[in-house]
Amino acid sequence: MRMKTTFIHGGISHDEATGSVNVPIHQTTTYKQSKVGVHKGFEYSRTGNPTRLALEKLIADMEGGVRGFAFASGSAGTHTIFSLFSQGDHIIVGDDVYGGTYRLINKILKRLGLTFTVVDTSDITTVEAAVTEQTKAIFLETPTNPLLKITDIQAVADIAKKHEVITIVDNTFATPYHQRPLELGADIVLHSASKYLGGHSDSVAGLVTTNSEQLADELGFLQNAIGGILGPQDSWIVQRGIKTLGIRMEAHEANAKKIVDFLNTHEKVQKVYYPGLESHPGHETAKKQTTGFGGMVSFELVEGLSAETFVESLSLITLAESLGAVESLIEIPALMTHGAILPEDRLKSGIKDELIRLSVGIEDVEDLIEDLTEGFSHV
Ligand SMILES: *Cc1c(COP(=O)(O)O)cnc(C)c1O
Repeated sequence: MRMKTTFIHGGISHDEATGSVNVPIHQTTTYKQSKVGVHKGFEYSRTGNPTRLALEKLIADMEGGVRGFAFASGSAGTHTIFSLFSQGDHIIVGDDVYGGTYRLINKILKRLGLTFTVVDTSDITTVEAAVTEQTKAIFLETPTNPLLKITDIQAVADIAKKHEVITIVDNTFATPYHQRPLELGADIVLHSASKYLGGHSDSVAGLVTTNSEQLADELGFLQNAIGGILGPQDSWIVQRGIKTLGIRMEAHEANAKKIVDFLNTHEKVQKVYYPGLESHPGHETAKKQTTGFGGMVSFELVEGLSAETFVESLSLITLAESLGAVESLIEIPALMTHGAILPEDRLKSGIKDELIRLSVGIEDVEDLIEDLTEGFSHV
């Protein structure tokens, strides 16, 4: 099955018992046993639920994993993955990972005795230099948020294999339609399904998959033991969203390219960040490991122009955190998603006050460009 077909027919896509072309929402906690210990594969819905299982099998098919796991959020999935490790274990993390992942690491996991080294994973030499005797994993995101830095997944996975550590990739931005980390040598893939996979800003969810039977067993144990599972209603709605992932990603990218062309020549724009631009430092790597450049675009207004005034002057593009949905969403990282990072650290990582992040939706692009034009007229 090719990708767009997998999104619709992968995993468990219908109901054998009734012929229903959609998976039923099994709103149940428990399952009747015909004799003690004799059941149809489900005992209690934290451990397993048929609606969730359909989605879990689907994410495994989409990424080339052996088993999938659905969580109440991307963050719950991240926490469960990090629960594979024990006190004293060392993990190398990308310097531009999701803010909530940082918070989890700095405020919770370090307290529990895990140790971390933060490196720019787009610079492969720094990754290898950070490996120690205690290193158990390398955790990265590509493209990153909001600067869309690109890491060569295969190069990192090669280093990881050499040192017998695992590679974990947060694939939220690219989605399996454009990038499949397990095929590039990664061991675990993570998604905030709240973004492109769900795709409609209507549910918070996390998905995880792996191509290692051993890691699958460990993750399955942890998912059940920690319990941060996705409920049946949200499992259903995320699966519904995934059916259109292919055409949505194509539409996001087509719109993003036109908006990048518009921004790139605009006199009030200082700089545009988009992996599809030949001038982007990660362009060649992105071209090699992805089949598309996605729908996320970041840009800086000319110094001194107010990003706040700009975003507040828009009428169609919604001022909001989050990304990856059918509607365009815009935000100012320095004041919103990355506001918790100290100003000097923020500037060091290149996030200026003038930086704006745009999650390009699938509206008519002419309407989006008109809205942006209106925004520019106010700054
Ligand atoms: C949103 C996001 C997360 C966290 O996911 P939640 O579903 O909000 O918990 C993790 N990684 C990336 C790249 C994200 O964009």
